[in-house]
Amino acid sequence: MLKDFFIGLSQNQFLNSAAKKYGLKLGAQNVVAGTTIDQTIESIKELNKHGISCTVDNLGEFVYEKEEATEAKNQILALVSAIHEHEVDAHISLKPSQLGLDIDYDFCKSNIREIVSSAHEYGIFVNFDMEDHNRLQPSFDLLDELSVEYDNIGTVIQAYFFRADEDLHKHKDFRLRIVKGAYKEPAEYAYQDKASIDKHYIELIEWHLLNGKFTSIATHDHNVINHVKQFVKENNIPNDKFEFQMLYGFRKDMQLELAKEGYNFCTYVPFGQDWYGYFMRRLAERPQNMNLIVKQVFNKKTNTMIGLAAGAFALGRLTKKK
Ligand SMILES: Cc1cc2nc3c(=O)[nH]c(=O)nc-3n(C[C@H](O)[C@H](O)[C@H](O)COP(=O)(O)OP(=O)(O)OC[C@H]3O[C@@H](n4cnc5c(N)ncnc54)[C@H](O)[C@@H]3O)c2cc1C
Repeated sequence: MLKDFFIGLSQNQFLNSAAKKYGLKLGAQNVVAGTTIDQTIESIKELNKHGISCTVDNLGEFVYEKEEATEAKNQILALVSAIHEHEVDAHISLKPSQLGLDIDYDFCKSNIREIVSSAHEYGIFVNFDMEDHNRLQPSFDLLDELSVEYDNIGTVIQAYFFRADEDLHKHKDFRLRIVKGAYKEPAEYAYQDKASIDKHYIELIEWHLLNGKFTSIATHDHNVINHVKQFVKENNIPNDKFEFQMLYGFRKDMQLELAKEGYNFCTYVPFGQDWYGYFMRRLAERPQNMNLIVKQVFNKKTNTMIGLAAGAFALGRLTKKK
């Protein structure tokens, strides 16, 4: 129920715009690296000091205006240049819907090609994040078509989808991030219960560790992480074939510990103004993340934020489940 509630809020356009206006509040600054490229580069440098690499996401999704998509593309191109200039250990994560997938496929492809081409010039990898089931096949199409020209791209496999095995096998020679899946998906496409998703998640990870190119295991789930540690040991899978990934601001101690233990570790670093949808999905995954909000509201007494949160709650009740 609570998951549906936050997923509903993540898709509410009014609240999305309101959140942009009020800046990085509601506790989001704990999980978003900053609003500018300069701030983000500083956060990356800090993580790099601990031997942690980064995948950087210019926040924003579900864009329906060409101008907005072009602006996002330019921002990501500036980010690519900044990663190169500052020589930080980082690559790009992008969302096709931010770059115009819902407007026009070819427009989106041309935006992504420009980013991939610029990143290719500097030897920077670009990950295509995966969104909801409506955007799944077109996102794989973008990857497949651009992979004819470029080898610095990869994507995400979401374990809640029944079709994930097929997608994984077909794309085994890409660098793949494997996740459980963050969106609310219909029962005709996806597992609905945690036990089935967790089981499928482990199966996909094991298969790709044994058969694939490079696996990013993106989870905060210590049970999965411990299982993978044991599995790679038993199967003599070298450290350079995989990495662990977590989101910026989550389980910080565990992130440092895994890097210290000698595993490749990569933190997903979101930045920008458009933090609302991203943050609401984090609340949907783990309602305990609400404590980030509670701390913010009570520590700083930001009454505006209490108003926004109350508004969010009221509007959320009116938001139909998608
Ligand atoms: C780097 C990264 C990139 C991602 N990219 C995508 C993407 O492109 N597309 C997509 O659909 N999804 C993506 N996701 C989100 C992902 O699909 C899951 O929704 C999200 O990671 C939550 O699932 P989980 O595997 O972390 O564990 P969960 O199933 O949420 O948690 C399992 C258990 O782990 C423990 N735990 C979890 N979080 C914490 C915490 N913060 N503190 C203490 N204990 C905790 C708890 O015991 C919990 O019961 C990404 C996730 C990460 C980490």
